[in-house]
Amino acid sequence: MPDRFFIYIYLYINYIMKLFITPNINNRICIRCNKSYKPTSGKQKVCINCRLPNEIRKLNYSKKWYKSDLDKHRLNLRISFNKYIKESRKEILSCLGGKCKKCGFNDYRALQLDHINGDGNKDRKLHMNSYKFYKHVKENISNFQILCANCNWIKRYENKEHGYKERIIRRKQKT
Ligand SMILES: [Zn+2]
Ligand SMILES: [Zn+2]
Repeated sequence: MPDRFFIYIYLYINYIMKLFITPNINNRICIRCNKSYKPTSGKQKVCINCRLPNEIRKLNYSKKWYKSDLDKHRLNLRISFNKYIKESRKEILSCLGGKCKKCGFNDYRALQLDHINGDGNKDRKLHMNSYKFYKHVKENISNFQILCANCNWIKRYENKEHGYKERIIRRKQKT
């Protein structure tokens, strides 16, 4: 069973990573197989080898649970994802002042995040989905400003940020 095999490897790697992260805890003796082992947290009583079957059962169970009502669970995931996106957008907008930097327009429905140096296109290609994009914005908030849709398009037009330049360069490289 390849599935089981990958789960084993995954859990083992997890265990080794945890050993690196956690501070040294003294070796303990497993209550099932009576062998000495290195615990990754203070609560463990059973060694990794004795714990694996149980972990696999848990993983399989959650997989089954997810598949038992696929539509419902997918919908729930999407709802919480959209909620996260909405909240991070609000958070970022209010963090950056909540209004257009050029004209002061403040209806959040038409406010857009603008990359100050005009690297927006490059960024969007690197961070394909909106989750990663917002995370990136949060980490590099000083690189961004708020512009309303009008000011943003005007800025793009004036600086030729709308990908027109790149397309021409690419076309020249092809021929
Ligand atoms: Zn054991
Ligand atoms: Zn504006």
